[in-house]
Amino acid sequence: MTRPIPVILYCLLLGFIMGVLGYIYDLNNRYAELKRYTATLLELELEDAFVAYRQFNQDAVQHAIFFASVPLVERALQESEPRVINQLAGFMGRFAQLYGRYSQVRLLDANGFEVIRFDRSSASSDEVLRAQILQDKSSRDYIQRAKALPAGSVYVGPLTPNQENGELVEPHEATFRVVAPIDTADGTRLGYFVLNARAGDFLSTVARNLLPEVTDYDLILFDDRLGTWRFSQEEWFYSSTAVDHEPTGDTVNFAVTLASDTESGNSQKVEEVGRMGLANLEANTAVHIATDFVQDINFLIKIPVDAWNVYQTASVDSLNSQRMVTILSRALSASLLLAMATLLYIKRLKAKHQEHKELSRKIESDHLTGVLSRAGLDARLERFGTSDGQNRPSLALCVLDIDHFKAINDQYGHSTGDMVLVQLAKLLNGELRDTDLFARWGGEEFLIVLHGVSPQVAYKVAERYRRVVEQFTFTGEAGGALKITLSLGVAMFNSGLFEDAFTAADQALYKAKNAGRNQVCLHEQGVSLQSIGLGDTLPNLEVLTDRGTLRLREYMGTSWLVLFSHPKDFTPVCTTELAVVARRAKDWEVRNTKVIALSVDGLGAHQQWKDDIQALAGCAVDYPIIADTELDLAKLFDMLPEDAYITNERTVEEAQTVRGVFIFAPDARLQASLMYPMSVGRNFDDITRLLDALQARWRDSDSAAKR
Ligand code: GH3
Ligand code: MG
Ligand code: MG
Repeated sequence: MTRPIPVILYCLLLGFIMGVLGYIYDLNNRYAELKRYTATLLELELEDAFVAYRQFNQDAVQHAIFFASVPLVERALQESEPRVINQLAGFMGRFAQLYGRYSQVRLLDANGFEVIRFDRSSASSDEVLRAQILQDKSSRDYIQRAKALPAGSVYVGPLTPNQENGELVEPHEATFRVVAPIDTADGTRLGYFVLNARAGDFLSTVARNLLPEVTDYDLILFDDRLGTWRFSQEEWFYSSTAVDHEPTGDTVNFAVTLASDTESGNSQKVEEVGRMGLANLEANTAVHIATDFVQDINFLIKIPVDAWNVYQTASVDSLNSQRMVTILSRALSASLLLAMATLLYIKRLKAKHQEHKELSRKIESDHLTGVLSRAGLDARLERFGTSDGQNRPSLALCVLDIDHFKAINDQYGHSTGDMVLVQLAKLLNGELRDTDLFARWGGEEFLIVLHGVSPQVAYKVAERYRRVVEQFTFTGEAGGALKITLSLGVAMFNSGLFEDAFTAADQALYKAKNAGRNQVCLHEQGVSLQSIGLGDTLPNLEVLTDRGTLRLREYMGTSWLVLFSHPKDFTPVCTTELAVVARRAKDWEVRNTKVIALSVDGLGAHQQWKDDIQALAGCAVDYPIIADTELDLAKLFDMLPEDAYITNERTVEEAQTVRGVFIFAPDARLQASLMYPMSVGRNFDDITRLLDALQARWRDSDSAAKR
C-alpha cells in the first residue's frame, strides 16, 4: 500500500536538494559571469584610456614640433642674443603656464646643454619658474636618441620616473619626454626642444576610475624593458625590475594587454600641425616619430580577495534571495509534478498488480465453492515442497467424496446439488486449521492436506469431518432439508510426492466406498489406530527419564505400576499432583506399586521441575519422570487430544497431553485407565482406592487360578 504523503515528501525533499544545488550552480555561474564582465569592463576602460593617452602623447608631439618650427627658436639658438632668448623665454613661459601637464619646458643647444628651462613644481601648482641654473643633459638617454634622429623627426621617450640632477624625484612621478630636434633648412642641427609630460596624473585618473565599485586594487603597468609602474593607494611606485605577475591566492588578477596600432609606432601624420597655423611644416606632412613608448602595453589589475568578495557580494548577492526563491520554487514545482507522475505510475502499477492478483485468485479458486482449485492447490503445495521427493512424515492427504451424490442431483435437481457442494465447502472450512489446504478436486470430490500430523491424528481428523457432515442438515432449493454422507481416504506423503500420496489416498477412498461408504479408510499399513486397551500388555519400551534410560517392564519388575501423564511441566496443577504422589510414597510401597510420571517436556525441564516439586512436597521425589519428547507413549496411550496435533507453527513441547492414569498388574496387563481433561487435577485417594480394588480382584483370581 503506497501512501501519497511519503511520496510527495520524498519528491519535495528531492526538489529542495535539486533547488539548493541548482542555486549553488547558478551562483557560481553568476560569479564566473561577473569575472568575465569585469575583465571585459577593464579591457574597455583601459582601451579608452590608452586612446586618450595616445592623444596626450600626440599632443605633446605636436607641441614639440610646433616649437621646433618657430623661427624665433632658430634665431635664439643661432644668435644667442639675450634679448631674443628672453623674448622666446617669455613665450615658452606662457606656454608652460598654460599647460599644467608639462613639468618641464626646455630648449637645449646642439650639445645638449640647457638654454631655457621652465619648471612646474606640481600639476596643481600654477607656479612656473624659469630655472637660473642650467644643466648639461648631453649624456641623457633622450638626448642621445634625439641626436641620432634625422631632420623632421620627433623622439617620444618611455614612461620613466622624473629625475633631477641624477636623483629620482619622490613620490615617483611618471613622465615621458618628447624631444624635437631643431634643424636649419640646410640641415644644421641647432638644438632640441624638450617637453617633460606628466603622465602620472593622467594615469592616476585612469587608475582611480577603472572599477569604481571596488574599494582597493593595484593597477600595474609593466614592460620587461621599461620596468614596472604600480598605482597603489593613490600613488605611483616605480621599479626598474619586472613585476611578479604570477597570480597568488590572496588577489584576484585581471591582465589586459593593449597593442599599439602598427602605424603609430614609427610614423604618423601630424594633422593638427597645419591647423595650428604656425608650423613651417605643411599640414599632412609625414613626421617620423621615434618612440620608446611601448608597442604593447601590459596592465595587471590585482584586487585583494576580500575586496573582490565585497564587490562580488554587492553585485551578485544582492539578488540572491530573489533568485533562490525563484530557483527553489521551480525545483519544488518540478518535484511536485514528479510526485504526481510517480503516484500515477504507482497507481497504475497497483491496479495492474491487483488485476493480476484477481486473475490468479480466479484461477486458483473454485468458482462454485470458493475453495482452492487444482491450480491453487498446486501453487500452495509448492510451498510445502511436495515435488522434491523428500520424505514429509507429518503431511497427510485426505480425499473426500460425497456418497451417492448422483442420486441427490437426480432427486433434488442439479442446483440443489450445487447448493449442497457450497454448504459442504463452508462446513468443512470451519473444521480446518490455517495451515490446512482445502481444494475441490472436481465434481463432488475434495482434497484436504493436513500439515504436522501423524497418521493416527490424520485419521481422527478425517473421522471428525465425516461425523460433522453426517450430523449436518443441508438445505436444498425451496428450503428442503437433506442429509449426505462422506467417504474419506487418508494417506501420508511418504514419498514426499503429491501424486503418490493422491494415489494412496484414492485407493483408501475406494476401500471406504467398497466397505459401505460413510467411513474413513487410512491407507497406511501397519499403523495401529488402536491404542492400548484394558487387558493389553505394556510393551517393554525403552524410555528416557530424569534418572536415565529405563525399560518399562524392567522398571516395574514384579510390582504393580501406576503411570500417570501430565500436560506440561511447571503448570500448577501438575506440580501439586506430583508433590502429592511423592508424599504418598508409603501408600505405593505398602501396595507393592511403582509409580512413573510422564510429560512431553525434555529432561532439562524435568530436572528443574523436580526441584520445584520437592520444595512443595517437602520430601524427595524418588519416582522417575519420562521425557516423552517424541510422543511415543503419548500416542500409544492415546493421550493426545485430537486437536492437539502438531501444526507447522507448533513445537513438540507445545503438544500437551491429556491427564491420564494407567494401572498395570505385575503381569504387565492394563487393569485400569482414567482420562482427565488437561485442566482438572486427579484425586489420588480415589486412585489408591482403585488400586486396592484391583489388587483384591487380582488376588481373588490368582487364588482361583491356584485352586
Ligand atoms: P459414489 O457414492 O460412488 O461417489 O456415488 P456418486 O453418485 O457420488 O458418484 P459418481 O461419480 O457416479 O457421481 C458424481 C456425480 O456428481 C455426477 C455429477 O452429476 C455430480 N456432479 C459433479 N459435479 C457437480 C457439480 O458441480 N454440481 C452438481 N450439482 N453435481 C455435480
Ligand atoms: Mg460420490
Ligand atoms: Mg466422485
